[in-house]
Amino acid sequence: MNSQWTTTSPQETRDVAVELLPRIQEEGLLLLKGDLGAGKTCFVQGLAEAMGIDDPVTSPTYGLIKEYGDPPRLVHADLYRLTHAEEYWEIGLEEWREQPGVVCVVEWPERVPDVWSASTLCLTLEQDAKQESVRQLTLSTGDPS
Ligand code: ADP
Ligand code: MG
Repeated sequence: MNSQWTTTSPQETRDVAVELLPRIQEEGLLLLKGDLGAGKTCFVQGLAEAMGIDDPVTSPTYGLIKEYGDPPRLVHADLYRLTHAEEYWEIGLEEWREQPGVVCVVEWPERVPDVWSASTLCLTLEQDAKQESVRQLTLSTGDPS
């Protein structure tokens, strides 16, 4: 399976999400790393679309977490505004992570580095220094292989 992609538009980033959905569903959890504007939320929009979720996906503001689908099948957390690590335990993500069949995606997982296992699936998005619409997407599993 691919572990690296270069995308040149938001649509291409959403297409990678479609391609990765089965793998993410298998794992139940995906971490999304990258600077502001790298395309993390754009990727989550692609996932939602691929899951047949009609609600528009935006950055969760209130409570840092938002559920989509009926029953909730996609849980989107953005930890950027987490003020202290203890707050992680209050937003409910830990409970969602235990639910079978729910896909959890997390922006800014670096805010609480200790709550993810080393083998957690992780996608890093990087904006090209020269080309405005180019992004490098790299998938890692934390496995040593
Ligand atoms: P993040 O959640 O990482 O802060 P967003 O997904 O909210 O970033 O924003 C990404 C912005 O970059 C959007 O305005 C999107 O239209 C733009 N963009 C331009 N090219 C790409 C690309 N190849 N992939 C994803 N987003 C892109
Ligand atoms: Mg975002």
